[in-house]
Amino acid sequence: MMQTGTKTLLRSIPSMDELLNADWAPEFLGALGREQVKSVIAGVLDGLRREILDGEPPTAPAASIAAERAVTLLRAKSSSTLKPVVNATGVVLHTNLGRAPLAGEALEAAGAVSGTYSTLEYSPEKGGRETRNAHVEWALCRLTGAEAALVVNNNAAAVLLALSAVARGREVIVSAGELVEIGDSFRIPEILSFSGAELRVAGCTNSTRIEDYRAAITENTAVLLKVHPSNYRIEGFVRAPSRKELAELAASRGLILMEDLGSGLLCPLAAAFARKEHQVMDSIRAGCGIVTFSGDKLLGGPQIGVIAGTKPLLDRMKRHQLLRALRVDKMTLAAFDATLRLYLSGREREIPVVRMIETDKAVLLEKARKLSRILKRVAAASGAAGITVSVVETEDAAGGGTFPADTLPGYGVSLRSASGGGGAEALAAALRAAPVPVIAAIRDDSVVLHTRALLEGDEKRIASALEGCLDRVMV
Ligand SMILES: *Cc1c(COP(=O)(O)O)cnc(C)c1O
Repeated sequence: MMQTGTKTLLRSIPSMDELLNADWAPEFLGALGREQVKSVIAGVLDGLRREILDGEPPTAPAASIAAERAVTLLRAKSSSTLKPVVNATGVVLHTNLGRAPLAGEALEAAGAVSGTYSTLEYSPEKGGRETRNAHVEWALCRLTGAEAALVVNNNAAAVLLALSAVARGREVIVSAGELVEIGDSFRIPEILSFSGAELRVAGCTNSTRIEDYRAAITENTAVLLKVHPSNYRIEGFVRAPSRKELAELAASRGLILMEDLGSGLLCPLAAAFARKEHQVMDSIRAGCGIVTFSGDKLLGGPQIGVIAGTKPLLDRMKRHQLLRALRVDKMTLAAFDATLRLYLSGREREIPVVRMIETDKAVLLEKARKLSRILKRVAAASGAAGITVSVVETEDAAGGGTFPADTLPGYGVSLRSASGGGGAEALAAALRAAPVPVIAAIRDDSVVLHTRALLEGDEKRIASALEGCLDRVMV
């Protein structure tokens, strides 16, 4: 039996028409269309009805609660959730924040072919079809020393296509120490099984000798696969054969040596820690027949996967049916081509990722001091006396599965609220809620804004985010 109170409450829920005719509605009707607005409002009204029936009466008049919820949801739906943010985490290649910000010339190139027809798969000289890969192959060969190269959607796709083309129905030998999982969706054993190849594990987690590889070879083996330990380090007693030893073994048995490098380093980096990361060219020179790497890690370009190697092997991949499903679109290809051209012309320091990793401490200290001055002014002007702004040392990172054990020394600005206890969480959340969200780190109950990965104009964006939220958070 429904109680009279419940009935009254249910009757107090506004109708769809009342809400559609509210003075806030036209803005959303214009942005989203009537059907979408109706479906959002219907969800709100349903929710209210259910709460009342479950014995949770609204804490304010149902009409105003319904309007408030509908406006909040509709406002959120009215603009894209994919939008720029300020990366104040100090992690240069932050996968969740879109990895590599592109160089200006890469952006222009993507724009230039997007709103118009282009030579994507067309040669004006031939007056006919050309492959889309042809736009970047020569530059990739020059920069890696490989005979041939092919681009696909990302590095996971590169590994999948390479193995599908050369190892389907055959065995692939991988060291036990290199059965990598990257992110939560790229696992070497699974990619191998998708490609139709069979995994044979050689050696132990921390130690694999060339004899272990040799012992694992059978007549059905096609590939020795080396995988870059991108997001972990094995410390202590570690042993692995050199690429040269592996290449010799592969050659003597008619096998292919393939390396999944992950990050595609195309130029030497000055930063001391980066010397451990070897370049794509080193793998090719050492005798790898196939090398795969990402376009949007250390290379600093758009999301793309590169396969570089010998011509006969690459020819098999270029003919493979899977390529059609993994191919790159024109905006990505244009941005990638422009990024490669920066390397060719020796202007790789214009690539944001390269520049950020190479920025030294002294420059970051200057940046942090300047940001600190700006934020002190903002805090003072808002009368939020309870907030302390100071320059602090930071530990930054290359990220994106490169140099997992190495931090980059940097500087940032710490925001500490006098109220202590959880104040940092609230402030960090408020900064994230700004129109251009500011993503910061939290350390010792302070918000820390790392300067390493800040881009042009980010200081102003941080200042306005702080300004907008100081009066809203407890300081
Ligand atoms: C990052 C990485 C991948 C995956 O590359 P995506 O471009 O993210 O698909 C695969 N292998 C290694 C070793 C990596 O570091």
